[in-house]
Amino acid sequence: MAKYIFVTGGVASSLGKGIAAASIGCLMKSRGLKVTLLKFDPYLNVDAGTMNPYQHGEVYVTGDGAETDLDLGHYERFLHADMSRQNNVTTGQIYESIISAEREGRYLGQTIQVIPHVTTEIKSRMTALGAQADIVVIEIGGTVGDIEGLPFLEAARQLRLEVGKDNVVYVHVTLLPYVKASEELKTKPTQHSVNKLREIGIDPDIIIARTERRLTEELKAKISLFTSVPREAVIEALDVETIYEVPLLFARQGVDEQILMLLRSRCKQRDMDQWSRMVDAAKNPDHELTIHVAGKYTELKDAYKSIWEALAHGGIANRSKVRIQYIDTENADLERELASARAILVPGGFGDRGIEGKIEASRIARLRKIPYFGICLGMQTATIEVARNVLKLKGANSTEFNAKTRYPVIDLLPEQRKVRQMGATMRLGNYPCKIKRSSLAAEAYKAGQVLERHRHRYELNNRYRDDFEKAGLKITGIYPKKNLAEIVELKNHPWFVAVQFHPELRSRPLEPHPLFRDFVKAALANKN
Ligand code: GLN
Repeated sequence: MAKYIFVTGGVASSLGKGIAAASIGCLMKSRGLKVTLLKFDPYLNVDAGTMNPYQHGEVYVTGDGAETDLDLGHYERFLHADMSRQNNVTTGQIYESIISAEREGRYLGQTIQVIPHVTTEIKSRMTALGAQADIVVIEIGGTVGDIEGLPFLEAARQLRLEVGKDNVVYVHVTLLPYVKASEELKTKPTQHSVNKLREIGIDPDIIIARTERRLTEELKAKISLFTSVPREAVIEALDVETIYEVPLLFARQGVDEQILMLLRSRCKQRDMDQWSRMVDAAKNPDHELTIHVAGKYTELKDAYKSIWEALAHGGIANRSKVRIQYIDTENADLERELASARAILVPGGFGDRGIEGKIEASRIARLRKIPYFGICLGMQTATIEVARNVLKLKGANSTEFNAKTRYPVIDLLPEQRKVRQMGATMRLGNYPCKIKRSSLAAEAYKAGQVLERHRHRYELNNRYRDDFEKAGLKITGIYPKKNLAEIVELKNHPWFVAVQFHPELRSRPLEPHPLFRDFVKAALANKN
């Protein structure tokens, strides 16, 4: 029978609850248990697909094409396992299925209510995953006390009653703010948030206290006294240099041992050797490197979370620290800012804001022979640039940015033209990509075919493919079924690779994505 570990949050948002949940999952997996994670998002959107990355960070796409919360990215990176649409459930989804069942008459005349109908639906999502794993770590989004979160917490409470005390553990992540004037860490907000949890009927078993300073034994004792959580179950979660250190930080404080004791679970010793070596490589690099990222959401790091992580993984593979310099393509003087760049990455994006600047960044990379990695939109900008400046197709564009362009080198396929509904209608999730021999892609992947994840509507227009090949922009990856260009590379350039998919979604710290690894390698080789 599966065991369930709930992770809730208190005091403030953005405490790294997702990383805490993923780290617990990572430790459980290292003990040979079959682990999966579930994120509940209490918002009404059916999925994250239509949400602005400014508000919520990047939209993470799973292999089966679900547009999910970015925490699923952490889950995949900490677990080295693929998540699916079952691993992220929103209030919108819960209500959608209840309402459609009601319309079908499946409730046989009952009055449909939050308790029991909504909570039952929520529990069924938990147990569906429980049927596939030894351990299900369940993160409840938001902060305890939010109105939207209540049905999820109620379901978490009920589940313990149903599956038994030994099969459920509650972990609560809180913040200990440091007050400068009195030079103290404050425990009061934690007390309040635990009380709030108690009102709902949940007694936390473990408290993970986020803090910038070390916790003294007295403070631990105080938290323990006020929350009735044993002292050894009050865990200090100090800020760390790399997020991949968090599982080790938890292991040192025996978080996994305590959870297993509460769950009366027997399993093998933890084995974090390979993980520790990776963290060691991340913390002690031999090189340092700055990569210029010409994007749109430059103010918010979370908007490109997976790219950031994939670059870090590429760095680890090359024993290099990778710093990112964001370039605002709307306002910056690109010639000046990119003149000394060692490598340029143009990430994915939607809409025409800053687009001319991104096209310009692709041009600078081509002409100055700066290693270039284009991702999704970054492949489209590279293509538009070559069309305009090498093929001399004046005004060439994507029909996303100019519907009336004379040269639609990037365009919609007929099936996308018909789309009226925005949610979940892009080309999403895994598609096979056939790799051309003797290409940079083949050198990186060392495989004839790969599977990569997509999230876009527009494609390279096949009408121009021969022209691009002649101009030196080689199509080196193809989705065979529809004969679509998935990878392009520039000839006579040290490293210029642009892909229509999102390779960053498949990069893991212990298995860095081959294209990110080789991009970082090319950047290190560029002594600009
Ligand atoms: N806006 C482009 C498209 O829809 C690129 C999308 C992306 O970069 N994810 O095709």
